[in-house]
Amino acid sequence: MIKFLDLKAINDSFEPELSNAIKRVLDSGWYLLGNEVKAFEQEYSNYIGTKHCIGVANGLDALRLIFKAYIVLGEMQEGDEIIVPANTYIASILAVSDNRLKPVLVEPDIHTYNIDPFKIEDKITSRTKGIMIVHLYGQNAMYPEIQKLVDKYNLKLIEDNAQASGAHYGEKRTGGLGDAAGNSFYPGKNLGALGDAGAVTTDDDNLATVIRAMANYGSSKKYVNDYQGLNSRLDEIQAAILRVKLSRLDGDNQRRREIARFYIENIKHPDIILPQVSDWVSNVFHIFTIRCKQRDKLQNYLSDQDIQTLIHYPIPPHKQQAYKEWNKFNIPITEKIHEEILSLPISPVMSQQDVEKACNVINCF
Ligand SMILES: *Cc1c(COP(=O)(O)O)cnc(C)c1O
Repeated sequence: MIKFLDLKAINDSFEPELSNAIKRVLDSGWYLLGNEVKAFEQEYSNYIGTKHCIGVANGLDALRLIFKAYIVLGEMQEGDEIIVPANTYIASILAVSDNRLKPVLVEPDIHTYNIDPFKIEDKITSRTKGIMIVHLYGQNAMYPEIQKLVDKYNLKLIEDNAQASGAHYGEKRTGGLGDAAGNSFYPGKNLGALGDAGAVTTDDDNLATVIRAMANYGSSKKYVNDYQGLNSRLDEIQAAILRVKLSRLDGDNQRRREIARFYIENIKHPDIILPQVSDWVSNVFHIFTIRCKQRDKLQNYLSDQDIQTLIHYPIPPHKQQAYKEWNKFNIPITEKIHEEILSLPISPVMSQQDVEKACNVINCF
């Protein structure tokens, strides 16, 4: 059986360092807001190339806190509009609507699955305050056209970097391209903890100060509360685990690229559309997606051949009950992607033999 993602095997490959890291925290007697978090924040901000990293409880909170902080700072207010990709995981959009900001959905480019930079300007109004780009499936979503709009309309650029830890845009890394970024270390992400974890990365001193306080009951000094905050902290054990795993992230991403390259060079089937790669370092292949008109049939066939696949994602945000006011929207490219997309197994511990087997089986569909 070829698993979609063998988390146990991935984490075993970091032993005994993970067990040692957990033991180190256990023995320290200090479990929150300590030296492991401080060290991880420093290491991750160095890695991404931002001045600040603030560890928080998860990726959704990282994104929510960015908007919450902009509201506290008076940069945004209730009812302001944020441009978001229609083709994304719903968490990107929840972060916006949770703050009573209005998500404005923009179609993706069918070749990259990321927000189409040429369809954004039409959606900008006098209430637009920001653009959120999502580096979906691990592929950079930043383009010079987006920077031009950010400059022209004086907008905040927020990145959802949950799927793309380590990806590049030119010399820079995603997560350090805009005003602030939300990062997720959910166990299945390229840099995954052993539970929930996330971080905000930013160069903005004021934003960083507010987010750090907001994530800790709105308090920067114990029992003094400046804001109506949350409790959203990264804990010491997860930080210690992430420090171990960050040290191998580039190598792990490189293995993902090798697998992706092998799939792209070896899957030859008239009914299967492969991802287009213009620049290999711009993609960390968090997810390797193909498209097929007979997607469900292909998935069943692969399952019968013991190859696990997943669908990212089966229902677009605007078709969810959670956003029923959008259900009648017609967003055809997003809908087409959701109907045809299929994610193949990929991970740093996947053997070459399994990659080859998956290609052969797919080619016989
Ligand atoms: C995983 C993910 C999130 C949310 O991260 P959590 O840590 O699970 O809260 C947000 N956006 C995208 C695109 C994601 O894939």
